[in-house]
Amino acid sequence: MRLTCPSCGSRGLEEFTYRGDASVRRPAADGSEQAWVDYVYLRDNPCGRHQELWYHGAGCRSWLVVTRDTRTHEVFDVRNARDVILTERQTDAGEGEAS
Ligand SMILES: [Zn+2]
Repeated sequence: MRLTCPSCGSRGLEEFTYRGDASVRRPAADGSEQAWVDYVYLRDNPCGRHQELWYHGAGCRSWLVVTRDTRTHEVFDVRNARDVILTERQTDAGEGEAS
């Protein structure tokens, strides 16, 4: 499998490290105990399209969000994690504005 890093281009998988599910979000500091248990210990085992967090340690050292099919290993999208978070924050901020 190869990943196309937004900064470095197409690279072999040996340059990257899988770092987990990219869809998991930290609960609020005053979140419930169950929310924290879920955040720390529980993960889905998806079959199909899934967002994963990868680290390009042997390249530009970027954190990447890779959208991949867990059955076929087809990669649909690779984006910088920073860009994904900034887009989410803009979307979240926009939800409370108009109605
Ligand atoms: Zn890179």
